[in-house]
Amino acid sequence: MEIDIIGDIHGCLEEFRALTLKLGYSWDDGAPVHPQGRILGFVGDLTDRGPLSLEVIEIVYELSVVRQTSLYCPGNHCNKLYRFLQGNNVQIAHGLETTVAEYEALSTRGQKKIQKKFIELYENAPLYHITDNGNLIIAHAGIRQDYIGKHNNKVKTFVLYGDITGAKHSNGMPVRRDWAQNYQGEPWIIYGHTPVPEARKVNHTYNIDTGCVFGGKLTALRYPEMELVDVPSTMPFVPDKFRTSFD
Ligand code: MN
Repeated sequence: MEIDIIGDIHGCLEEFRALTLKLGYSWDDGAPVHPQGRILGFVGDLTDRGPLSLEVIEIVYELSVVRQTSLYCPGNHCNKLYRFLQGNNVQIAHGLETTVAEYEALSTRGQKKIQKKFIELYENAPLYHITDNGNLIIAHAGIRQDYIGKHNNKVKTFVLYGDITGAKHSNGMPVRRDWAQNYQGEPWIIYGHTPVPEARKVNHTYNIDTGCVFGGKLTALRYPEMELVDVPSTMPFVPDKFRTSFD
């Protein structure tokens, strides 16, 4: 299988478009198509904070649900938006406010359409993908080796939020353990969730969230070539949002 897996997009449609063009996809059909039949993968967090979250949903819905030429798995932001669109009382914060503002600017009919699409996209997606005969795993915040193949609540929390301890840093950010250091498996695990200045390879894992929405870049991993391709962000740089130490 030949797949280009893209990090957290967070509404950065322009960078997503630029990155897929750089990867050789054409947008002549209104959504990215590769001439050699490569497909796209998404580590989740399509929306929130960036300027065009709903359009990113439209494209990923078209690819994942309609054409079935991409593999999408949800991130924690997707999970929260899903709960919002189902009518649950969720806190409109941490970036969700921009997606909700786009949504509320639509007509009732427009709202119903995007609501239906996102719910379908989300409900059709597995918690994480195990693909290429078990050689490739795509999971939003990664997955611990002993959790692979499992889907209980502990696994769900890990895949969506990472290896959290329950403690918080002085800036309010949850403490996340560096689970990748302990991963000894053969299958490649491709994930995002924690913005890093450069894509980070540890054992057979890659974190490809290079903080596009915080002014970093949008990164893709070309599999099985294991080549990184990126485009610069158009967003203002927020250095505090990047994790630079792992001890
Ligand atoms: Mn994210």
